[in-house]
Amino acid sequence: ATPTSIMVGTGRGAELGVLFRKGEALQLLKDAKVVAVDKTGTLTEGKPALTDLEVADGFERAAVLASIAAVESRSEHPIARAIVQAAEQEGIAVPPLEQFASVTGMGVGANVNGLRVEVGADRYMRELGLDVSPFAATAERLGNEGKSPMYAAIGGRLAAIVAVADPIKPTTAAAIAALHQLGLKVAMITGDNERTAKAIAARLGIDEVVAEVLPEGKVVAVRRLKAEHGHVAFVGDGINDAPALAEADVGLAIGTGTDIAMEAADVVLMSGSLLGVPNAIALSQATIGNIR
Ligand code: ADP
Ligand code: MG
Repeated sequence: ATPTSIMVGTGRGAELGVLFRKGEALQLLKDAKVVAVDKTGTLTEGKPALTDLEVADGFERAAVLASIAAVESRSEHPIARAIVQAAEQEGIAVPPLEQFASVTGMGVGANVNGLRVEVGADRYMRELGLDVSPFAATAERLGNEGKSPMYAAIGGRLAAIVAVADPIKPTTAAAIAALHQLGLKVAMITGDNERTAKAIAARLGIDEVVAEVLPEGKVVAVRRLKAEHGHVAFVGDGINDAPALAEADVGLAIGTGTDIAMEAADVVLMSGSLLGVPNAIALSQATIGNIR
């Protein structure tokens, strides 16, 4: 491609709300075979709400919600906001906490009212030596509904299963259809529960799902997709996504996401919509493809 065509393509991208931070990205995008996408905040709004809270025998709902809201009041994860908001909406006072700890991609914990309170994924509970099987049937149902199940432990005992749901962005389905139209495969890579991820992927016609991965696992997944299919574009919004954005042939960050994701990306989608991805690929094909 000539410098002029790159300049024209970059300018046209800006009009479409697609910011090319590297001119190289405009040239590489046309060769993408797979678009791998993060789920939370990329396919979905990233604004989950609490939908379910089922307590184990011997625990009281309001007290459990108060304790987990206390722990989550220190976390910046979207899940945390959902739980704190639910407590506020129910008029539950959030007690003070001590010794907060956060394990990336796993969960959070703190001392509340003299008891250790932990909230997180099933793998987090297992790591704490807790058996989540009493909630197996509920977890399966929640996952199939596209909700994300998590667990709470209080004083070393499994206390509750909690679920949040995050609405799919209105433009996501059209963006995936457009990517398929362009002949690309679409893969989801997420830290969320496998059943939940698959339920959402099925609704959207996504071809492949990699679930329950830590941020480093997203990098491994991108590397594998490159080996299997050729050029891979990765789309994400979170701090978690920065390593995968760097690993992909082209990294595209959602403009409404975190600064860290945008800094790691080659392309920023200003509108926050996934439709920027097929637009950017079509633009690359039109600009670069025509020149040769
Ligand atoms: P993603 O944003 O891709 O869903 P994360 O790596 O941020 O993935 O988190 C993975 C999983 O870890 C979440 O789905 C959740 O089960 C658990 N988790 C992470 N942070 C928290 C938190 N603050 N409270 C409860 N669970 C959490
Ligand atoms: Mg995300």
